[in-house]
Amino acid sequence: MTENETLFREVNERVDDTAADFVGADEDSTCDYFCECANADCTFRVTLTHAQYASLRADPRQFVVLPMHFTPEVETLVTKNEGYWLVRKTGDAGEYAERLDPRSR
Ligand SMILES: [Zn+2]
Repeated sequence: MTENETLFREVNERVDDTAADFVGADEDSTCDYFCECANADCTFRVTLTHAQYASLRADPRQFVVLPMHFTPEVETLVTKNEGYWLVRKTGDAGEYAERLDPRSR
C-alpha cells in the first residue's frame, strides 16, 4: 500500500537531481514533482521549490501530495500549503516508508 508513494519518492529524487544539475543549486527555483499520494493512478504534479522539497525529505515518513490527496487510514496531515499538503505515514506504512528512505542508503 505504500509501494506507490515510495516509488514516486524515488522518481522525485531523480527529478530533483536532474533539475539541480540543469538550473544549478538555486534553492528558490521551482520544480514539478510527482504527487506522492496513495492513489496508484495519480500522475499529477506538485510544484515546489528545491528548498521546500529538501525540507520535506528531511523526514523519511513525510510525503508531498496535492490538496485533498490525503488518505487518513495511512497518514496524518502535517501542513496545508498553497498548492500542496504534507502528510506523514503512520503505523506500518510509516515504518515501511522509513526503511525504504532513499536518503538513508
Ligand atoms: Zn495524488
